[in-house]
Amino acid sequence: AAEEGFDLEDVEGALDEAGHGPLPVLAVVGRPNVGKSTLVNRIIGRREAVVEDKPGVTRDRVTYEAEWAGRRFKVVDTGGWEQDVLGIDASVAAQAEYAIEAADAVVFVVDAKVGATDTDEAVVRLLRKAGKPVVLCANKVDGPSGEADAAYLWSLGLGEPYPVSALHGRGTGDMLDAVLQALPEAPAQSFGTAVGGPRRVALIGRPNVGKSSLLNKVAGEERVVVNEIAGTTRDPVDELIELGGVTWKFVDTAGIRKRVHLQQGADYYASLRTAAAVEKAEVAVILIDASESISVQDQRIVTMAVEAGRAMVIAYNKWDTLDEERRYYLEREIETEFGQVAWAPRVNVSARTGRHMEKLVPAIETALAGWETRVPTGRLNAFLGELVSAHPHPIRGGKQPRILFGTQAGTKPPRFVLFASGFIEAGYRRFVERRLREEFGFEGTPIHISVRVRE
Ligand code: GDP
Ligand code: GDP
Repeated sequence: AAEEGFDLEDVEGALDEAGHGPLPVLAVVGRPNVGKSTLVNRIIGRREAVVEDKPGVTRDRVTYEAEWAGRRFKVVDTGGWEQDVLGIDASVAAQAEYAIEAADAVVFVVDAKVGATDTDEAVVRLLRKAGKPVVLCANKVDGPSGEADAAYLWSLGLGEPYPVSALHGRGTGDMLDAVLQALPEAPAQSFGTAVGGPRRVALIGRPNVGKSSLLNKVAGEERVVVNEIAGTTRDPVDELIELGGVTWKFVDTAGIRKRVHLQQGADYYASLRTAAAVEKAEVAVILIDASESISVQDQRIVTMAVEAGRAMVIAYNKWDTLDEERRYYLEREIETEFGQVAWAPRVNVSARTGRHMEKLVPAIETALAGWETRVPTGRLNAFLGELVSAHPHPIRGGKQPRILFGTQAGTKPPRFVLFASGFIEAGYRRFVERRLREEFGFEGTPIHISVRVRE
């Protein structure tokens, strides 16, 4: 495809860049103050994480994207939360469990200066049961004299302790090499259609929107519990539910049914749980309580699903309670708050009365179809050609940047790479996205567009 001076290498490079599908997930766990957040900062190479956060403060974001030696993965951070509700052992264990559930591999951080504590031993038992690959990080080894401290951690029985200074970066390269060895190329729950098996649905939403009511309503007596997390005594996490003649896997339903009565930190748990469910799912059904105003928390959950690149359906629940006035205001709120995700199929349901339950499955199927759509390169370029000549980019500094060529780099969600002769403004990118959606559908899926400029 050597159109307008682009050679194949350009295209392949761009595909590498934009073409990654779902990423494997790494969880960073350990006691408070061992340096988890510092390490996560180091791994993601940004100063964005949470070392300065106040204890107990809710964080929106618990997963970050990272890259090492050309491989990308996601990092789930469990730092930055103060354990004073359940007592330290229970808190650390609960937190680690949530994270381990979502992860393909785990970095277990121990403070090498302190050595292994009883709490550390408790986490080790959890890790053993979960059976996920573990990399042992002996942190706070700021210089050669600390290496002996690290060696003591062989006693944990988790294999080689990697001496690391998260603060200064010492040893993190070797540790990350080990992480790459431990991480699978693709997430365990591979998206390949060849794999078959039930499609994975995450039913998410803030507390009290009606998740467990909806689950009970749709599942009835049909629910079949699958996949106990190896050996633990916790609730099972995923359930097989037959809906509309098809079996679906509802992921992480334990988090829906189990009421965790926590004062502090409950929001944090909820967002960790939501992130974990979203990571495991192909499609997120986001439940909104239509009887109340759309909240910031609702928006965060939507953002989480969009950023994770999942197919999405929005279900407005408690429809039985709405009067005409509320319905009017709800429509206005949806326009202003959810304008960015107007592409998501919408269903108005009542978990109480069963209203429109039968519309849920078609909406999920529509979203998954959009998520998997692939536009052949020929069709895409015919479309782009027409678009560009009918609606050229505005002239900037005497020049007119032009989209020359494009290709779809991947699906789930659809990802496009456009090659351009100059900088393409955000407004024009949004315009292109809108027109792509009008032309090819993509209902129920975010789409990613990256632009490569050839000077
Ligand atoms: P978390 O609670 O496990 O997330 O721990 P933090 O990342 O918040 O770190 C706790 C404290 O340990 C902070 O004061 C960090 O600056 C410090 N710390 C983290 N990593 C290192 C390290 O490698 N060496 C030293 N000396 N201090 C560290
Ligand atoms: P969750 O925290 O999201 O799992 O929410 P629940 O399923 O526990 O529901 C919270 C409350 O909302 C409960 O009192 C439910 O009975 C109520 N509820 C759930 N769905 C509906 C609905 O469709 N209509 C009405 N009126 N109430 C509902």
